[in-house]
This record gives sequence, C-alpha cells and structure tokens, in this order.
Amino acid sequence: MTAPVPTYDTSAPVLVTGATGYVAGWLVSRLLDEGFTVHAAVRDPSNANKTGPLQALADAKPGTIKFFTADLLDPGSYKEAMQGCAVVFHTASPFTVTVADPQRDLVDPALNGTRNVLESANEVESVRRVVVTSSCAAIYGVIEDVAKAPGGVLTENDWNTSSSLTVTPYNYSKTLAEKAAWEMAGAQDRWKLVVINPALVLGPGISPDQTSESFSYMKAFGSGALKDGAPPREIGMVDVRDVAEAHMRAGFVPEAEGRHITFAEAHGFIYIADVLREKFGTAWPFPTAEAPSSEPKLAWRADNSRSQRELGLVYHPISTAITDMFAQLVEVGAILRP
Ligand code: NAP
Repeated sequence: MTAPVPTYDTSAPVLVTGATGYVAGWLVSRLLDEGFTVHAAVRDPSNANKTGPLQALADAKPGTIKFFTADLLDPGSYKEAMQGCAVVFHTASPFTVTVADPQRDLVDPALNGTRNVLESANEVESVRRVVVTSSCAAIYGVIEDVAKAPGGVLTENDWNTSSSLTVTPYNYSKTLAEKAAWEMAGAQDRWKLVVINPALVLGPGISPDQTSESFSYMKAFGSGALKDGAPPREIGMVDVRDVAEAHMRAGFVPEAEGRHITFAEAHGFIYIADVLREKFGTAWPFPTAEAPSSEPKLAWRADNSRSQRELGLVYHPISTAITDMFAQLVEVGAILRP
C-alpha cells in the first residue's frame, strides 16, 4: 500500500483553537512551514508571553498568523475566527488533573466548547474538515480497561466507559467532548470530522510559558517530588512534534477519517527517570525505582497502526522528546539545577 500523501491547499486560511497551547504551538509551526494563513483563536491575544513566540514563528516562516479572541464557554465566539477557513483544528480543552470542580473546570469547557466550535462550523459555509484533538483518555479511563479490551490491546473501537465526575474526570471530559463531536458530525454532510487521540504528550514547548499537565509530569522528575518512587504505572507516550504532524495529516490527507490512537512507545513512568539519568547524570533527584504499590502492575497496550497506515505517520523515539523537554525546562529555570 502506498503511503498517504497530504495535499496542502493554502488558498484558504485555517483555524486553530487554543493556539497558545502546548500541542497547538507545534501545529501552528507546521502550518506556517507550509505557508498557511493561520487564524489563531486564543483567550487573550494581549498576553505577549503566549502570543509572542507564535508571532516570532510567523515572522520567520512562509505563513502568516492572525490572532482572534475566543473562549470555549462563550457561545459563537469562534465564528469570527472561522470565517473563510476550510479546515478547523479544535485543540482547546483544559488539560489538568487537579481541579476544584470537575464539572465547571473540565467538562463544561471540553463539552460545551466542542459544541460551540462545531455549531460555528455548521454555520460557516467555507468549513470542509474539522480535526478534533481528543485523547487516549476517550479510549480508556483506568488502566484496568486495557486488559478488558479485546486481546488486551486498546484500539479505536474502544470507548472509555469507566470515567465520571469522580473517577478520572479529565478522561470523562474528553470522552463526552469527542462523543458530542461525532454526533454533530453525523448530523450534517458538509464537513468531515477526523480525530486524533494522543497518549501522554512529551517534548519541548514552542513557548517556555506552558500550562499543560505534560509539563507538571516532567517538572516532578526534576524537582525531587518523585525521589521516593516513580508512579508505578505504564502509559503510552508520544513526541509533541509527532502529534502536530498527526494533526497535519488528519487535516490534509484527503482520505483521512475516523479516530487515530497516536503514541510511539509504552513505558512505566520510571523509564522517564532512566532516560534522564542516562543523559543528565546522577546528581539530579530522579527516582531510581517505582513507588511501592499493593496493586498488580498492569500493562498499557494499544494499537497505533492505523495512524501509521492511514495518516502515514512516522514516530520518533520518545527518549528524544524526554531529554529535549527536560533540557528546555532547565534552560528556562522551571527546573533548578542540583
Ligand atoms: P495546554 O497547553 O494547556 O492547552 C490547552 C489549551 O486550551 C490552551 O490553549 C488553553 O488556552 C485552552 N483553553 C483552556 N480553557 C479554555 C477556555 N475556557 N477557552 C478557550 N481556550 C481554553 O494543553 P495541551 O497538552 O496542549 O492540550 C491541548 C489538547 O491536547 C487538549 O485538547 C488536550 O486534551 C489534548 N491532549 C493532550 C495530551 C497531553 O499529554 N498534553 C494528551 C492527549 C490529548 P490558554 O493558552 O489561554 O490557557
């Protein structure tokens, strides 16, 4: 089978929601490489810490960027940014696991925000394709779900049925949002929905000012917070630059459709410490073992072959993402040298 080839038609602008986010930053970078006019919908265009790095990319690359103000909780607020766009990349959604009120802080922005963006897609005639950044969190809720999947391997046929407002609520928010997206896509026939379902995303940010939970995980390895043991869990991991490329393929490979589990490798969290120790030495407070647990250790297994076959995605080793991310956090002072 020949590898799918993306077609970059730059005659229409593209919208990226949550453009100041971690994953979105690398997507915007790739769109600018290809010469697109990127409509960057952000909560606060006057926040130069967040928009400055994106503007600097646009100044250096063939494409151009225009900032628009929009909020997931504000009905219709993406409509102006969507005008004339053929492709909409909906990445905005809170990725944080420590929240005071899961309904207000996770479910409302994820679910109502997705409906809000897709209602505008229904109204803006130029839209032909919508790429939604979902997550493996919409595929499974707790590690026990993996063993229950056919053959013990998660695929795009699996949906998270174990999360709720009290059990892995971030996963719940992503599940509700992706389901709503498929419902709305099925109720019309002008735009096609393509979904990317990344596992844990790692790698440096475009901007040093990052809020994604991905950075909290990495900071914990450098701060000593995990000195007594890494979380005794396995998880899928993927380089943020591969996730951006997955979005490009989802947006511009003509035949792309459906969901795409997107990860390069599955490891225990202790693997991150092992990679960091190998590269940065033993003076850092990296954990040397997993935290003790009375629970049986369960494997994380998922099938990423669809992303390779249908999007033509080529995954890079996760060790590079880990070391690049850590080096950036040290360089900007977010992790202090020992
Ligand atoms: P992030 O950097 O925190 O990005 C989240 C984005 O959502 C930010 O741009 C944020 O805007 C925006 N946002 C949050 N609440 C909003 C609201 N009420 N109105 C408008 N925008 C709002 O995290 P990320 O890791 O890049 O996540 C991006 C997407 O990838 C999310 O859909 C997430 O679920 C998904 N994902 C992430 C991972 C991962 O490991 N990082 C894995 C799987 C899926 P501000 O910049 O203004 O804060």
